[in-house]
Amino acid sequence: MMAHSYDVVVIGGGHAGCEAAAASARMGARTALVTQSLATIGTMSCNPAIGGLGKGHLVREVDALDGVMGRVADRSGIQFRVLNRRKGPAVRGPRAQADRKLYRAAMQAELGGAPDLFLVEGEVDGLAIEHGRLAAVILADGRRLGCGAAVLTTGTFLGGMIHIGETRIPAGRIGEAPSHGLSAVLEDHGFALGRLKTGTPPRLDGRTIDFDRLERQPGDPEPEPFSSLTTRIETPQRDCFITRTTAATHDMIRANLDRAPLFSGAITGRGPRYCPSIEDKITRFAERDSHQIFLEPEGLDDPLFYPNGISTSLPAEVQQAFVRTIPGLEQAMIAQPGYAIEYDFVDPRELRPSLETKRIAGLFLAGQINGTTGYEEAAAQGLVAGLNAARRAGNGVPILFERSRSYIGVMIDDLVTRGVTEPYRMFTSRAEYRLTLRADNADQRLTELGRSWGCVGAARAAAYAERIAAIRQARALTESLVATPQQLACHGIAVSQDGVRRSAFALLSYPSLDAVDLARLWPALGAIPAGVMAQVEADAKYAVYLDRQASDIDRSRQEDAALPDTLDYRAIPGLSRELGDKLSRIRPATLGQAQRIEGMTPAAVTLLLARAQATKPPVPAHIEPARAPS
Ligand code: FAD
Repeated sequence: MMAHSYDVVVIGGGHAGCEAAAASARMGARTALVTQSLATIGTMSCNPAIGGLGKGHLVREVDALDGVMGRVADRSGIQFRVLNRRKGPAVRGPRAQADRKLYRAAMQAELGGAPDLFLVEGEVDGLAIEHGRLAAVILADGRRLGCGAAVLTTGTFLGGMIHIGETRIPAGRIGEAPSHGLSAVLEDHGFALGRLKTGTPPRLDGRTIDFDRLERQPGDPEPEPFSSLTTRIETPQRDCFITRTTAATHDMIRANLDRAPLFSGAITGRGPRYCPSIEDKITRFAERDSHQIFLEPEGLDDPLFYPNGISTSLPAEVQQAFVRTIPGLEQAMIAQPGYAIEYDFVDPRELRPSLETKRIAGLFLAGQINGTTGYEEAAAQGLVAGLNAARRAGNGVPILFERSRSYIGVMIDDLVTRGVTEPYRMFTSRAEYRLTLRADNADQRLTELGRSWGCVGAARAAAYAERIAAIRQARALTESLVATPQQLACHGIAVSQDGVRRSAFALLSYPSLDAVDLARLWPALGAIPAGVMAQVEADAKYAVYLDRQASDIDRSRQEDAALPDTLDYRAIPGLSRELGDKLSRIRPATLGQAQRIEGMTPAAVTLLLARAQATKPPVPAHIEPARAPS
C-alpha cells in the first residue's frame, strides 16, 4: 500500500476539522484532511444556524484569526440577526440562519481552494506511534498517512448510537456509520473516555405548515456579516416563524415518557442542560403549559423546516402525533424524525492548553470529542489545534490563548482545567472580562497577534490596518469635538447645566445618547461608517469599566507564570497529598490554570507561585512564527 506524508493530518471534516485543516495550511504546513466522505465536509449535523450569544463571539474570534467559519456563514446566511441588540455591546450575539446546502458547498469551496491542503477520503482506525511521538495515522483500508502531528475531530462518531423510541441504530449521525476503531485505540493508550448524549428535532415539510397562523420573525433590516472581510450579504433573506407547544402536546409527551430513551434509562450519557429535549422541558418545568418553538427554514430551495425547541427521542409515530397538536402544524408532515445520539468523548483534562494530548506527543483533539457541543465551539478548538499542530510539526513552541484576551482562551482553560460533566457550550457569563471581550472588537484583540503567528493572510492584514486607522481617526474626531451644555441644549441634548464643555466621546458614554443624536450637532459624525462608529461608541460606553478591567487583567498576568511540565508536585513540602495527586494528574501549564482547579487553597497557590518564580519564564508564543517544513 502506498504511503503518503504530510506535516499535519486532520481527521474529520466537521466544524472542528475544517477549521483545523484551514488553520494548519495557513501556517504553511502541508496538511491532509481525511474524512469518511468528502461530500459531507462542512455538514451541519443539527440546526442550520451559526452564532448566537457567546457563540457569535467565538465566530468573530475565529474570523479575526483568518479562520473560515465566518466567511462561509456570510456566504450561506439566509437570515441575520444580532441577538440582545437592545442590551450592551458586550452581550450582543451575531447569529445567522444558514442554508444547509450552501454552507456545505461554501465550506468545500473554501477548503478545496486552499494551497497546501489535500482532501483524502477514508476512515481512520489506527495511530502509529514511534519513539514516543505520533508518526502516522492508519486508514481502515490499510493506507498510512505519515505526519508530524495529527488533529482528531471525530464529533459524535466515536461509538455513536442513535435512539428513536425503542429503535437503536449504530451511527455517527443519521445515515452515516459510526467509528469504532479509534475509541479502542484511545482506550489502549490509557485515555479516560466517557459517554455524552445530544438530540435533534424532527424535520418538517414546510409545504404542510400553515404559516398564515404563525407569528413571523424577520431578520435585521441591514444584515450584519460575521466576517470583517465581507462587505455585503448577497444571499436572499428569509423569515423564521414562531409557534408554541400546547397542553395537548404536553399530555401526549407525558403519556409516552416511558418510550423516550432519554428518560427510560436506555441512554446513560449526560445531555446538554442548556439545550434540553422537549421531554426534559415538560418534566423539569412541569408548571409551564407552553414552550416556544422557532420554525427555521433549512434553505432557499429546500422545503424543510427545523423546529427549534422540540428535540426529542420519542418514537416516530409519537413525534408525528404530538407535532400536530401545535398551532400551525395541524397538518404538518415529518420528513425525518428527531433522534437522540450518544457517543464517546475524551476527558479534556487529558489535554494541554495547546489541545495536544498529554499521553501522545503530536496528537491533538478538537471539537465534540472534547465534550463540547456546538459548531462554533468545535470550530474555535479546531483553529487552536490546527495552529498548534502546524507548530508541533515544525518543532515550534505552542500558541496559547489567554482568558483575558479571548472567549477561545476562556473555553480552552475551562475544558483542560475543569473537565466537563455535561456537553460544554459557550455563554458570555463564562468570561470574567466580558466588557473587554466583545464580538465587535475581536479583530483588535487577535488579528495582530495572529499575523505574528503566521496565520493571518495579506488580505485580512490590509483590511485590518485600514479599519484600525479608521477607528483611531473616528475616535480622535469624537474627542476633538466639544460643546457647552447650552450648545447641546439647542440641539435637544439635555445634560446638567454646569458650564462644563463635553466632548462627543464623553457624550457617547451616556446611556441615553448615541451617534445619531450627536450627528445632529456635528454632521461630520454622520459620515463615519456605521461599523467604525459602533466600535467608538462601545469603547466610550465602557470607557470607565475598560480601564478598571485593564488593571485587573494586568494583575492577573501573574497567572501566566509557567509551571514546568516536569514539576514533581508530590515532593513540594507543605502541599497536601490530595492536591499533589490532583496537580500531578492535571499538570497545569500556568499558575492561573492551577488556581482554577477545584480544591486549590490560597496557601497551595502561594507554594506554587514560589515554584513558578524559580522557573525561567516561557518564550512568548508570538515571537516565533515558525513555518512547518514541507
Ligand atoms: P462533527 O461535525 O460531528 O464532524 C465529525 C467529522 O469526523 C465528520 O466529518 C465525520 O465524517 C468524521 N469522522 C468521524 N470518525 C472518523 C474516522 N474514524 N475517520 C475519518 N473521519 C471521521 N450542537 C448544538 O450547539 N446544539 C444542538 O442542539 C445540537 N444538537 C445536535 C444533535 C445531533 C443529533 C448531533 C449529531 C449534533 C448536535 N449538535 C448540536 C452538535 C453539533 O453538531 C456538533 O457540536 C458539531 O457538529 C461538532 O463538530 P465536530 O467537528 O466536533 O464534529
